[in-house]
Amino acid sequence: MNQDVNPWTHQLAYLCFFLAFVLSFLPVYVDPCSKIRIKYIDDNNFSICTALATGLILKSSSLQSYFQSGRQSWNSSAPHFIYDNIFIIPLMLLVSFVSFLILVFLLDCILIKFILIKLFKREFIRPLYCKDCNIPMRKINSPLSFLNWQEQVAAKIKSIRFEAWYCSLCNSAVNRDSIHLRAYVNTDEKFKECPDCQELTMVEVYSKVTKEIKPNTDGQRLVIHKCQCCFREETKVEVIPNGY
Ligand SMILES: [Zn+2]
Ligand SMILES: [Zn+2]
Repeated sequence: MNQDVNPWTHQLAYLCFFLAFVLSFLPVYVDPCSKIRIKYIDDNNFSICTALATGLILKSSSLQSYFQSGRQSWNSSAPHFIYDNIFIIPLMLLVSFVSFLILVFLLDCILIKFILIKLFKREFIRPLYCKDCNIPMRKINSPLSFLNWQEQVAAKIKSIRFEAWYCSLCNSAVNRDSIHLRAYVNTDEKFKECPDCQELTMVEVYSKVTKEIKPNTDGQRLVIHKCQCCFREETKVEVIPNGY
């Protein structure tokens, strides 16, 4: 029935899925000797997840029924339908936009955790190409030997996941200065950057609630972070917002 009402949303959804499929084969050209840090969504995945999320939103029955009701009220001359839409349309657009952002993020997490890392041992979909000579970059299976001491500690405590790639044409000798290093930052709050080591090497080693939350009063928590590299310690009192 829905298909009769909104055939274009179905077609547009399939077009988005097809676009996501095509985008996943599109090369990404990178500097063969560069270091990049990725905190949330990898740019390489963003366009694909956006296309997938758009397709899923268009396929969702709630949006289709929204378009259906919108069309019915558009066809109707009854004034209350128009007043309804003044509030319903912005609300539905807001809900759709928020759902869309959540979907993009979820799709990226699902793709990374369950497919990309497990199957391909990498966090992005599109193939990496050298921007200087236009050939595919090669992955280094064990990047640990290319990392400095602070980065090795970050990799060990899993605050950062490193991937190293190199171009076989540009660089005959593969060393730290001739590779493309991608650092995927773990956004878990238990990790913190050490001011001395300037790397995400501090980890939460102690946490205790020192003041319970009471009605209309915030709570407090004592947190200690310790650097696993230089063993610097930082103590901080954090506010636990009421109702959190
Ligand atoms: Zn190259
Ligand atoms: Zn340190």
